[in-house]
Amino acid sequence: MGDSGRCGPSIRTDDELLARLRHIDGRGYKAYKEIQGTFGFADFELIIDHVQGDPFAAPSRLRVRIDREVAGLGADPFQSAAGRTAFEDFLLRAFADAARRLSGGRRGTGKSGEIIVDRPGQQVIERTGCRVTDRTIEVRFFVGLPARGRRVLGRQAAAMLGDEIPAIVAESLDASALDTDALRRHVECVEDQDALRRALSDHGLIAFIADGSVLPRLSGIDERPLAGADVVPFSAPDALRRTLPTPHGGPVTGMGIPEGVTVVVGGGFHGKSTLLRAVLRGVYNHRPGDGRERVVARDDAVKIRSEDGRSIAGVDISAFLGDLPGKTNTRAFATENASGSSSQAAAIIEALEAGSRLLLMDEDSCATNFMIRDERMQRVVAPEREPITPLVDRIRELYERLDVSTVVVMGGSGDYLALADSVILMDHYRAELVTESAREVFNALPTARVSEATGRIDETAGRVVDPATIDPFRRPGRPKIDARDRRLVLGSDEIDVAALDALVSRSQLRGVGWALHYLKVNGLLDGNRTLAETLDLLDADLARSGPDLFFQRPPGDVVRPRRHEVAMVLNRLRTLRVLATRAPDASLKDSA
Ligand code: ADP
Ligand code: MG
Repeated sequence: MGDSGRCGPSIRTDDELLARLRHIDGRGYKAYKEIQGTFGFADFELIIDHVQGDPFAAPSRLRVRIDREVAGLGADPFQSAAGRTAFEDFLLRAFADAARRLSGGRRGTGKSGEIIVDRPGQQVIERTGCRVTDRTIEVRFFVGLPARGRRVLGRQAAAMLGDEIPAIVAESLDASALDTDALRRHVECVEDQDALRRALSDHGLIAFIADGSVLPRLSGIDERPLAGADVVPFSAPDALRRTLPTPHGGPVTGMGIPEGVTVVVGGGFHGKSTLLRAVLRGVYNHRPGDGRERVVARDDAVKIRSEDGRSIAGVDISAFLGDLPGKTNTRAFATENASGSSSQAAAIIEALEAGSRLLLMDEDSCATNFMIRDERMQRVVAPEREPITPLVDRIRELYERLDVSTVVVMGGSGDYLALADSVILMDHYRAELVTESAREVFNALPTARVSEATGRIDETAGRVVDPATIDPFRRPGRPKIDARDRRLVLGSDEIDVAALDALVSRSQLRGVGWALHYLKVNGLLDGNRTLAETLDLLDADLARSGPDLFFQRPPGDVVRPRRHEVAMVLNRLRTLRVLATRAPDASLKDSA
């Protein structure tokens, strides 16, 4: 995968590795290529997959592999796939902590001397950093092989590979060094979250927030929980209180958000957006102590935003945008420069296409003219002059005909109140169910606005994309995939991903990039299947192999993406073109 590193056929010994490092001391950096291969240490193997070209290049890729019996971790502490991921996550965190403690740090030029582990954040998601099989544990990481200028620092390298890494392994991948109670709690906590999420649909819920959860975060760029006396832990209103079972923690009580249309109201700064963000993050499992470790949502939840300036490739947004000035076809709408409203319409149709049945929207990031159009404006601008059908006229249809639930944060307009199955009022960070009183207000102050909906939302968004318009290569055989701060470099293209609220890290964005590479080079995007069918195949492959799927020798910094983010990134690729649109699947809920 984009590297020329080849593993040696036989397992050599750590003595031989150290002898080689002494031998190349002082030579040019390329001499490091001699240590690519697999080396047997006393109780683990060290695999040097790829040696960097110079001390400033991306650091070298290494793995350690240890037998689970040798590590004293032969018995499975987990009962499910989610639990296995939690086990891997725990070991990787331990390895990262030990590396931080025991590494001698930078020594020499560039990244020389650094041991770099992609430490998980608040979420517990399958990642390439650690893989546990029935017999082995494997941790993947990066090392800056040390040099002064371009001369090999052989003795420093021997200290890193011969002393520091064995010490890190001993302190993290060995039952005697681990806090096995914490390990058990970590795994059980994740298995409980998974069970809560799977229980949602049986209970007619789209999300669940346990009592005592802490929703606010430290800051917009720090996802650790807010702490201090001002934090108000979550408490369910009686009318929405539900109790769900968990395998380890017993019954858990909290607020269940029912399927259907939910509107969240309340004054500014009363916690509406914080609630919605926590629901969105509920598609993932969280580590114990996060505060959201018993906040779960349907795993297909997608946040919908307005995003003017993005490109759109052949999306049927006609349910929201009728005839545009200049006779633009909105049944296969394509633009290089979407408006706020058209971008939001496309985001909804694309989310449905990718299979989401839960859309989250926050007025803070929505286009007003897409959300509402009040009675007065309807009188000033006659409907036949307004191409936009606002969401308010489609939101019931989304649920009743297509089974798509919505949660809309809307503190600024009452037009949604009568349409909601549930109205949740946030008041000083406390939730209240006010559906009935909101309806009474609506009936006491009726509006003469009329619905502008004509036709209906069709399930026609089965696009077949042109694989030739997706190119993750810059040169033949050399994929270029680079996750930057708010964009993905894919081949010669750059994709703006700032609107992807469910993306948790650059490592997960890298996962999206490699997923697209995988779909392309393995012919899953074949110019025949619809995008949804392609994503089904991706999910099936990921369920079998995790993100290791994308690599022959996985690097340690790739996190499993959801199909929804893969679709969202693809949809924002400016070169993307559509070959055809398929008729809706007959099995879709559509009786009208
Ligand atoms: P809104 O969307 O209603 O205007 P926000 O969700 O943006 O409000 O919250 C406003 C501020 O209150 C944020 O800084 C947030 O971190 C903080 N906050 C939210 N929920 C809580 C809570 N339960 N306890 C303490 N602070 C909170
Ligand atoms: Mg807000």
